[in-house]
Amino acid sequence: MAILQVARMGHPVLRIVAEPVSPVELASDAFQRFCDDLYESMIDQDGLGLAAPQVHVSQRVAVFQLDRDEDPMFLINPVITPISEVRAFGYEGCLSVPELRGRVERWVDIRVDALDRDGEPFAFEAHGWAARVVQHECDHLDGVLYVDRAQVGSLAFLKEFRRYGPPIGGDEDEDEEDEDEEEDEDSEE
Ligand code: ZN
Repeated sequence: MAILQVARMGHPVLRIVAEPVSPVELASDAFQRFCDDLYESMIDQDGLGLAAPQVHVSQRVAVFQLDRDEDPMFLINPVITPISEVRAFGYEGCLSVPELRGRVERWVDIRVDALDRDGEPFAFEAHGWAARVVQHECDHLDGVLYVDRAQVGSLAFLKEFRRYGPPIGGDEDEDEEDEDEEEDEDSEE
């Protein structure tokens, strides 16, 4: 397994629309190795999620793992559909934009249709913090960074964020439907 270098904001690979993974590629040993490397790279960086463009591979692949005791979830060619009208603000961080936090509005309830790493179609619903992480990762597949969506005036360096708290919002970010999902201010995606 290999730890892959994470592309930082300013690298063009983060700004292009990634290619779908073909059935032929999905069936290859190389693709399985890449999935392992993507996961190991996420763990190495203490990330909650990591998308292939963040390791300089412009393909529609992402992995996330909100709880290290659970299996990581690989999303290949994912499609997100909001399943309610509810949107909520929350602070996000990103391994490609290190040491920064910003407040972003996201769908709270989504359905995700994707292939797993073996090419099998599957679908699930995600809510609150989990839905936020999936939307953040899938944005990477379209060349979008969270800072593009962040509220003006909400950006803060992590050190200052910890010291002084969020620049705007604050208590409003407590997501009523999501009280059991504690957002980790140290986590980046
Ligand atoms: Zn990110």
